[in-house]
Amino acid sequence: MQTITRLDMLRAARAALKGRVALVPTMGALHAGHVALIDEARRHADHVVASIFVNPLQFGANEDLSRYPRREAEDAAMLADAGVAMLWRPDAATMYPDGFATHISVGAIGERFEGAARPGHFDGVATVVAKLFGQVRPDLAVFGEKDWQQLAVIRRMIIDLDLGIEIAGVPTVRDADGLALSSRNAYLTPGERATALALPAALHALRGRTAEADYEEARARLEAAGLAVDYIERVDHNFQVDRSNGSRLIAAVRVGTTRLIDNMPAA
Ligand code: AMP
Repeated sequence: MQTITRLDMLRAARAALKGRVALVPTMGALHAGHVALIDEARRHADHVVASIFVNPLQFGANEDLSRYPRREAEDAAMLADAGVAMLWRPDAATMYPDGFATHISVGAIGERFEGAARPGHFDGVATVVAKLFGQVRPDLAVFGEKDWQQLAVIRRMIIDLDLGIEIAGVPTVRDADGLALSSRNAYLTPGERATALALPAALHALRGRTAEADYEEARARLEAAGLAVDYIERVDHNFQVDRSNGSRLIAAVRVGTTRLIDNMPAA
């Protein structure tokens, strides 16, 4: 696996790749969820390019940018083992040089739920993903269903900007006890991690449920377990609440200082 940190070298290495190229964007601190994305990418493409960039644009002022876990050597070993051809690891000055001014604004989908809790987050995600697409020029990009709203925002952007890049979504990889794998799980104490299990349990219990009371009960149970609930809802593909016909259950909670999100099919 080649590790590349300069844009001119990326362009040269990319030009030498023949056949279909898949991109797997990540922020590092990799786990089995990321490996599942790479496995999916390999099924659809001749070469897999993974990127690691902790994108300042998608972190709010009070969020965890500076303490976000960074594990360069372990990440590179995992990617090489998973069959990645090229690791694109730019620094912030390469991504956002002096004078950088253009941002993508993602509109309504990006203003609800995660977007409401994290103003500017999805604009930051869309902007960096658009840049990564321009840099790597993939035929296909792979994202996790774990970030359900992010996946919707990226699909919307690709349609709206006629980017012509295929998207594959990969089901959420979980630990055996049901907790969705996340780089942020590294922040949890053992006690917090045990508490966090109430999140997938609550979503699971809501599958097939439509009554107002079921949602109130889910929220109350999460709070009683020690989680601060931001939202737990059933939504349609536009992220409008629809308890009868929405296709997805989505939730965000805080455990101590750590914010966790999860989602499941509603039916
Ligand atoms: P991140 O490094 O957290 O920005 O995530 C990079 C990509 O991995 C995104 O497309 C995420 O949706 C995906 N991802 C993160 N956690 C999981 C998981 N547990 N299962 C599947 N995909 C995941």
